[in-house]
Amino acid sequence: MAATIHILPVSPPHIDLNLLDRLSADLAARLQMQCRVHVDEFDSGFAFDTYRGQTYSTAILAKLAEVEVTEGDIVLGVTEADLFVPVLTFVFGEAQYPGKAAVVSVARLREEFYGLPADAEKLRVRLLKEAVHEIGHTRGLGHCDDWQCVMVSSHRVERLDLKGAEFCAQCGKTLSGA
Ligand SMILES: [Zn+2]
Ligand SMILES: [Zn+2]
Repeated sequence: MAATIHILPVSPPHIDLNLLDRLSADLAARLQMQCRVHVDEFDSGFAFDTYRGQTYSTAILAKLAEVEVTEGDIVLGVTEADLFVPVLTFVFGEAQYPGKAAVVSVARLREEFYGLPADAEKLRVRLLKEAVHEIGHTRGLGHCDDWQCVMVSSHRVERLDLKGAEFCAQCGKTLSGA
């Protein structure tokens, strides 16, 4: 995958750039892709649903897809906002399938969301897994049945913790076009 992943802070609320820098380093190491953290905040206020108190992820995706990047690059938005799509109570993230845009939320990746003490390492690993998963979708990968594969569908944080951050052999093969 010789392309660049553009990591964009999507706000409000404000997201800590250190979190994005760590994700950038982790993704670069994991996917062997260049990563670039953009400092200009991408405004997602237009996608906020006042009735639900959540942000509509598909609307953000459509806007992220308009960001001009080199053909083959990926635009990954990261937000503190709690994301939703109309049929689900929430989503950890969403991606074009296939496409160039993906968005992930850290809101429900934080232990604090579940009334537990903050855990920076847990957050870091969860964010990496969720980002790799959505990037896999942008590259045309669907959900996988292998419980350890990063492409397994996980709607609960416990499930996210259980799976790995890697693609299984089959998904890896599909990804490399073999
Ligand atoms: Zn998925
Ligand atoms: Zn797989």
